[in-house]
Amino acid sequence: MDKQDVVVIGAGVVGLAIARELALRGRDVLVIEKAISFGTETSSRNSEVIHSGIYYADSSVKARTCVQGALKLYEYCKTRSIPCRRIGKLIVATDHDEEQTLGAYLAQGERNGVEDLVLLDPLELAEREPEVHGVAALWSPNTGIIDSHSFMFSLLSEFEKNNGQIVYKTGVASGKGTSAGTELTMLDGYKLLANTVVNVTGLYASDVSAKLGVDSSTIPVTRYARGRYYSYAAKSPFNHLVYPIASKAGLGIHATLDMAGQLRFGPDVEWINRLDYSFDGSVIDDFSTAIKLYFPPLKTSDLQEGYTGIRPKVVGEGEDAGDFIIHTPEQTNCPGIYALYGIESPGLTASLALSELLGDMVCQY
Ligand SMILES: Cc1cc2nc3c(=O)[nH]c(=O)nc-3n(C[C@H](O)[C@H](O)[C@H](O)COP(=O)(O)OP(=O)(O)OC[C@H]3O[C@@H](n4cnc5c(N)ncnc54)[C@H](O)[C@@H]3O)c2cc1C
Repeated sequence: MDKQDVVVIGAGVVGLAIARELALRGRDVLVIEKAISFGTETSSRNSEVIHSGIYYADSSVKARTCVQGALKLYEYCKTRSIPCRRIGKLIVATDHDEEQTLGAYLAQGERNGVEDLVLLDPLELAEREPEVHGVAALWSPNTGIIDSHSFMFSLLSEFEKNNGQIVYKTGVASGKGTSAGTELTMLDGYKLLANTVVNVTGLYASDVSAKLGVDSSTIPVTRYARGRYYSYAAKSPFNHLVYPIASKAGLGIHATLDMAGQLRFGPDVEWINRLDYSFDGSVIDDFSTAIKLYFPPLKTSDLQEGYTGIRPKVVGEGEDAGDFIIHTPEQTNCPGIYALYGIESPGLTASLALSELLGDMVCQY
């Protein structure tokens, strides 16, 4: 049976970042991906925003890895000429109750280490975004956008240049602990022995851990919260990212620009029981109502159905936001097996900080 030092299961942005990090540290790494290419699931169905780290709870993994990850990501993009722009973001309060929340965001952001946030009055808001209606706003200059596909392609190239290997169209079906390592069986029956296995399968992480033989009492339930995006048919009226006050499960139906200048609105939050990326357009009036609170001139006819993405959640509907969960062999109760759960937003931003964390954890053994 073939023997491998490290197997990373899943080639989304976080899996690729971890694989690259371990290869750079001299480990012999194989990535196993069930799809025909890298980044075909959550990593290509998101807002492509580099978050600054405002919303996340004190001392959370999200707060730490988002703030550090944004720094690393801007530096990575700069040194490799990967398209990204630090265009800044406005979080807009549309009434005086919401204004209180902006103060709370400012305090939370500062506790998380986001140092450049500024509260704006209506005149200052109008100077930055004349089309946006609001009684106040929080300006986050360090928020930006990135071409996430170019980023993933770069991670993969650096991984391969450092002797990493990747196989596609190969799903990991099961795993079994042996005295020589974890025996992995692929969907086609092929078997492989690995010293270290890192489960970075996003929406499938709980299921994959169960199949690897991870102690079931340690595996969090992964729940799904789908988000829809509408693209805006007219020229963008905004030069910055524009966000409303966040909800518990998402950041509110916000306006983001991609690197080509295309404006899109979304995502909303729809809790679903099975993985399904279909787009139910019956919510268009809800979208329109939500957007008009901060962009009153919107014409609903300018909203065109775009795409959906699904957040892997480790909390249920109505509960406070969960944190990223990283389990080492101590927590999985399986020698050599690491697992990441609930890697929703800001996982793209945090990817290079998460990979450094995993690099330290794996290499200390
Ligand atoms: C709607 C939405 C908006 C978001 N917006 C942002 C944003 O603006 N900024 C930000 O920082 N983050 C954002 N995120 C979060 C970010 O997209 C994710 O955190 C990130 O993409 C997760 O990457 P991943 O590698 O963990 O998972 P994924 O990209 O889901 O990759 C997992 C991979 O595992 C593979 N796989 C699954 N099962 C198996 C198996 N058995 N064998 C082999 N391979 C398997 C899958 O095919 C997939 O390729 C958003 C997320 C969503 C849903």
